[in-house]
Parts: sequence; C-alpha cells; structure tokens
Amino acid sequence: MEKHHQFSLWYFVLALAALFAAHALVSAPQIETLDYSDFKKLVKEHGVVEVEIGTAILSGKVRSQALATLLPAEKAARLERDKDGLRRFATVRVDDPNLAAELEAAGVRFAGRYENTWLKSVLGWVVPIILFLLIWSFLLKRITAGAGGLMSIGRSKAKVYVEKSTGVTFKDVAGIEEAKAELEEVVLFLRSPERFRRLGGKIPKGVLLVGPPGTGKTLLAKAVAGEASVPFFSLSGSEFVEMFVGVGAARVRDLFQQAQTKAPCIIFIDELDALGKVRALNPMGGHDERDQTLNQLLVEMDGFSTEAGVIILAATNRPEILDPALLRPGRFDRHVLVDRPDLLGRQQILEVHAQPITLGPDVDFRALAGITPGFVGADLANVVNEAALLAARKEKPAVAMADFEEAIERIVAGLEKKSRRLNEQEKRTVAYHESGHALAASAVRHADPVQKVSIIPRGIAALGYTLQRPTEDRFLMSKSELLDKLAVLLGGRCAEEIVFNEISTGAQNDLQRATDLARSMVAEYGMSEHLGIVTYERQRSPFLPVDGWGTTRQEYSEETARAIDAEVRELLDTAHLRVLDLLRKRRELLDTMAEHLLQYEDISGAELQAILKKSRALGEGDGHEPAA
Ligand code: ADP
Ligand code: MG
Ligand code: ZN
Repeated sequence: MEKHHQFSLWYFVLALAALFAAHALVSAPQIETLDYSDFKKLVKEHGVVEVEIGTAILSGKVRSQALATLLPAEKAARLERDKDGLRRFATVRVDDPNLAAELEAAGVRFAGRYENTWLKSVLGWVVPIILFLLIWSFLLKRITAGAGGLMSIGRSKAKVYVEKSTGVTFKDVAGIEEAKAELEEVVLFLRSPERFRRLGGKIPKGVLLVGPPGTGKTLLAKAVAGEASVPFFSLSGSEFVEMFVGVGAARVRDLFQQAQTKAPCIIFIDELDALGKVRALNPMGGHDERDQTLNQLLVEMDGFSTEAGVIILAATNRPEILDPALLRPGRFDRHVLVDRPDLLGRQQILEVHAQPITLGPDVDFRALAGITPGFVGADLANVVNEAALLAARKEKPAVAMADFEEAIERIVAGLEKKSRRLNEQEKRTVAYHESGHALAASAVRHADPVQKVSIIPRGIAALGYTLQRPTEDRFLMSKSELLDKLAVLLGGRCAEEIVFNEISTGAQNDLQRATDLARSMVAEYGMSEHLGIVTYERQRSPFLPVDGWGTTRQEYSEETARAIDAEVRELLDTAHLRVLDLLRKRRELLDTMAEHLLQYEDISGAELQAILKKSRALGEGDGHEPAA
C-alpha cells in the first residue's frame, strides 16, 4: 500500500516536469544575441536591413560589414550567418517610443509581430488545477487506505470462517451452563431446521448475548459456529461506523447479501452497542452516520426470513444503551445472559484452561475458585497463563498451587480498580442483604418469583442482586401489590438491621427506589387515605424538557407538600415494620439462605424453592405471611 503511494507521487512529479518542458518549448524565448545599445548604433549607421518587432523581442537582419566595423569581433561572432550574407540578430525590446521614427529615418524595413500566448495562459490555470486534483486524490487514498482503498468503501470486511475454522466448540466454554444450553438450541436450529418448522414454529432471527466483558460472549458465538459447521460471518459493531455517511449502511447491506448466498450461516455482530446506540433525538433533524447504519440493520433484519437459515447473533455488555427497536420481536428478541461465573463455574473454567498445562500434585481448582469471586472467564484464563509463566521463570517442573496463588494476587491488584473485592464481613452483609430481599419476595403475596440471588460482585455499585422475573405482563397494579413491592425493596435493609443491628450504605439504591415508589403512590396514584384521590404530579409530555432547562412546576401549596412528605414517610415506616416482623419470624430461613450464598455465591430459583419447601416441612409456616 505504502509503495503504491510513493509510486503515484513519483508519477505526479514526472507529470509536472513534463509540463514544464512543454511550456518551455512552446514559449521558448529567442536568445538575445545583441545588446539594445549596439542595435541602436547599427540602426544609426544604416547597418540594419530589416526588423521584426515582437512584444518582447526585436529580431531581424544586419549587414556583415557594418557589424565588423562597429562591434568587436567576439560580439559579432554571436550572430548567426544567413545564406544571403546577412546576419540574424535578436535583442530584448526596451521601452523606446522613438524607435519607429528612427527606423523610418534610417530606411529600415520593419514590421510588428503578434505572439500567440493562449497556450501560455491555458497552462497558467490548467497546471494548478491538475496539481490540486492530484493532491486531493492522493489524500483521499490515504484516508480510505484503512477501508481497503477507494473502490471497496462500501464492501463489508466480514471475515468468513467456514466450518471448523473457528476451532472452538462448546467444550471450550465452561461455567456458563445456562447460556450454553440456550445456544445449543440455536445449533439445533441450524443443523435440522425442518424439525422445528414441522409444527409451524418460527426459528428465531436474532439472539443477543448480554453480559459483562470477558465472560465469553465472543467465545460462545464462535463455539456455535464451530458446532453447527456453518459459515460464520463475524463483524464488530465499530467496524460499521465509518467516517463517510452511508458507508456503514452499505456495509450492512453487503453483509446480509453475502450471508444469504451462504445460508445456512451465522452472522455475528460483536460489540453491538457501538452501532446500536439509541438513535439521537436530534433537534436539528439531522441523521448521523450511525443512525443510518442502524436503520439499515433494522431494515435488513426485517427483510429476510429465517427460512433461509440465517441466524444473527450479537453481543453487548451494555444492553441498556441499545435502541429499543433492536430488541423488538422479530429482531433480537432472544436474550441470553452470559453472567459472571459462580464458584463451580470458575472451577470449570480454570480446568478447561489448565488442560494443556503440566500441573503439580497440590493444585486445587476448587480452592482457587473460592478465592476469585467476581473473576470472569478472561480473568481466569489470564490466571492460568500467568501461573504457567511464573513457574517457567522459576524453572519448576510443574505449575504449583503457589504459582496460581501468586498469579491471582497479581491479577487482583490489577482488578482492584475495576471490580470490588469484598472482605469477609462485607460478604456476610451482602449475603444477608440479598437474602432479605429474596425472603421478603417469597413471603409477601404479590411479589414476582425470585429467579436468582447472587452475591458475585459486579461493577462498582451493585455488590449483589436479587433477580425477580414477572410471570405475566402487568399494566395495572393494585395498592396491595405496590405495598408488597415496597416490602421487597426494604427487605435487604431490614435483614441487615435484624442480623447485624446496624445499617450499611449498601441499601442506598433500595431506599431511593422505595421512596420514589411511595411518593408515586401518594402523589400520583391517589392511594393515600389522608390526601385522598388527588393527583399532584402531572404526567409530562416526553417531548418537553423536564430536568434540562425547564424546571418542574410545583402545582400544590407548601402545606400539601408537607402532607405528602408525611404520608410518604408513614407508608415507608409501616412497610419497614411489616418487613422487620416478617423477617424476624423467618430468621432461621434467613440464616440458611445467607449461609448458602456465602458458600455457593448464588441461589437459583429452584434452589430457593427447595430451601423454602424444607422449612415448610419442618413446620415453619407456609412461607406466605397470613392475609392481612
Ligand atoms: P467477551 O466477548 O464476553 O468480552 P471473550 O469471549 O472475548 O469475552 O473471552 C475472552 C477470553 O476469555 C476467551 O478467549 C477465553 O479464553 C476466556 N473465556 C471467557 N469466558 C470463558 C468461559 N466461559 N470458558 C472458557 N474460557 C473463557
Ligand atoms: Mg467480545
Ligand atoms: Zn438491596
């Protein structure tokens, strides 16, 4: 590529030189052979026969004898001899108004000559234009060099991996069993689509892998391709976003065209968020490049049918910034959570990566998994590699436990900034906090069932989480349902209060959400007995600025504001007492759950049911609080 550029530069220099040469030839000035003063002398002495007066040059013929008598020999010799014994001369014209009169007086034949200068003037403006064009195209080539030159701007750079060439199978992916199971289904779709179509079912179009960085999303996608033995088009979202408007869209179009000719196949868009960010509500009405690319992707996804056997996989670690249009049914409607691995998962991942490594007899992956909470697959791969390098440096025959421990220490130091590592006390606090949420959710009547409880740290804010999944879509919620929701939100903090007789800062987000909910109940839904069925907050149009430059107008008096505050307070206080009571009655269950969490780091929905059932069998009540 670089070579080509130099070549074209040389080309350009040559062209310039040629132009100058042509210019010089066309307008070659006659060489001066006579000084103007000598010419005047010759005129006076009647030595000049004829003169041609050009715009810049006077030329003509002189007599040889006059020349010989008037000028020194070496000057005369410069004049070229003519066939009729005369000599030709040329001199540069000097501003001399009397020249014509003098020539006439001396009886010299003279004539004016018009020099044609069009070529000169044409060259005068053509050359700069050519120069400009050359420089411009040179720069353009430079800019688009990364895109494979000017001609291939619109073509996609999708790499095609055919059949075994990804070399990755499900065996290489460990510790994320649920995600794996969902993708195994996708492989089945690709292998025997008839089986699923037989009953009229539709094969999913898009599957979105969601999870923190390094958890193995890219690896999973490759494994799907490896297992299904189909072509695998892989492209990163950022590769779609180009500096020229329209190029990304052209690339999307090209990618889908390519894919359709290779069906059945998989299109994998890594880092979907780079391309699928929420389209800007641009007040100027402008479309930027990314919007166009995203629109094209939506169009293409709608345009092809899964009959063709093309399945689109995408991965992102920031699903919250994706444009909702991408997540609509018929697009990426299947979401697969690729979560941080739990204890067992980490152990399995370590084992997978340790396969090619010579291990010492004392290596215990279970113990190593225990000291690496919050590590993702990529971190664990790194641990194994680092340990192997450490052992090699010390010229040991095998990698020992101590090497692994040292490697973990190192990586932890690097991760410290990224993700929190909890000490034992903090871990206990989080375990009880999350158990509190989960227990409250299982005790109240109207809460969504708990899907998963986890104390694997993720990010900076959340130290653990309790995942509830609604069993049905809800459009209306009754007051008692909202009260139950409030109870679940307060569950974490109440558990901390009961167990440690102390409150940590970990509940801040819960309290905020609980307060917001209580305030909505009072001020928006008219659910307060004292304030009555009045709405104090207006629904604002989403197009009007709310917290930008406009301030929200308060539509009630100070007094009402105070009443609302008091009412919110009372709602929260009541809920607080209710949850405290509810958890105190289930203290043993709370301890069981927290212990389980401390040991395994997470509780699945099924495990939770089992724990609850066991306690019920022991005669600790039916789980639910008695109806009020
Ligand atoms: P992501 O795309 O989610 O950011 P990658 O798939 O690129 O993560 O993972 C990076 C590397 O970490 C992989 O190449 C693999 O070596 C290792 N890795 C991550 N997750 C796993 C896993 N579940 N099992 C085995 N190895 C993993
Ligand atoms: Mg990735
Ligand atoms: Zn909480």
